[in-house]
Amino acid sequence: MFATLSDRLASTFKNLRGKGRLSEADIDATAREIRIALLEADVALPVVREFVAAVKERARGEEVSQALNPAQQVVKIVNDELVNILGGETRRLRYAKSGPTVIMLAGLQGAGKTTLAAKLALWLKEQGKQPLLVAADLQRPNAVNQLQVNGERVGVKVFAPEPGNGVGDPVSVARASIEEAKRTLHDVVIVDTAGRLGVDAEMMKQAADIRDAVRPDEVLFVVDAMIGQDAVNTAQAFLDGVGYDGVVLTKLDGDARGGAALSIVSITGKPVMFASNGEKMTDFDLFHPDRMASRILD
Ligand code: GDP
Repeated sequence: MFATLSDRLASTFKNLRGKGRLSEADIDATAREIRIALLEADVALPVVREFVAAVKERARGEEVSQALNPAQQVVKIVNDELVNILGGETRRLRYAKSGPTVIMLAGLQGAGKTTLAAKLALWLKEQGKQPLLVAADLQRPNAVNQLQVNGERVGVKVFAPEPGNGVGDPVSVARASIEEAKRTLHDVVIVDTAGRLGVDAEMMKQAADIRDAVRPDEVLFVVDAMIGQDAVNTAQAFLDGVGYDGVVLTKLDGDARGGAALSIVSITGKPVMFASNGEKMTDFDLFHPDRMASRILD
């Protein structure tokens, strides 16, 4: 995913190798190249500006370490700044102090929510939790069935509206699922909600109504990293319309240039908590900003 950015930065750093000291011109040239590398990777312009300014300031500053030569110092600064824009520390899930922890998923149709719901359920199961999946996406005809299939694949129970039992609307299903979880001693409830192809007011309202009904401990915004700059706009729209605590990036295995991953935290102020990088149920993990930065600079 970050191949181009990685290559670009590597060649930038190569030009600094062997230098005893960095002149103002060296720093300017390096900053320019980093700027181009980030823009080519589709990172949003305000984020690029902030990033380059921070690198420049630190490179000029007094951070002279005896252990590192100038080129290594620039790599370290860029690494630190990457970790920083990727959110700093790994942000872990917050569990409810009592009763089931409720995690609600929101995002556009096709973002990978339904797949992710099952991946998250499997991951939680491996952490010793007893998750319950909830099919509150009643918009897409096949969504309930898809969640049921995925639930079966990971061995996690799915709570879904049954024809004729009176719980036909997504808000009621979501509300009823919390009672069901309490009754059946499931300790984490993962609520999959409906998305549309684009942001629309009705979808936002439904997501907000579900949120109010289940009072989630964590709302996760699920976004396809492949949609590039649009990911940032969608992230902002969901932040305004529904609100969320963290972001899940999906399809990191694709050949997108990675700008979305690098822009979202900066623009929304919300951490990326999980990353999904493939179609297999195990292609999923906590998002570690430091590991991602190392991978970019590898
Ligand atoms: P939803 O509409 O948000 O519920 O999205 P789905 O879960 O149905 O996913 C949409 C498509 O993306 C499906 O074909 C998934 O198999 C695929 N998908 C989901 N996550 C990933 C991922 O991390 N990597 C890849 N390559 N495909 C994914």
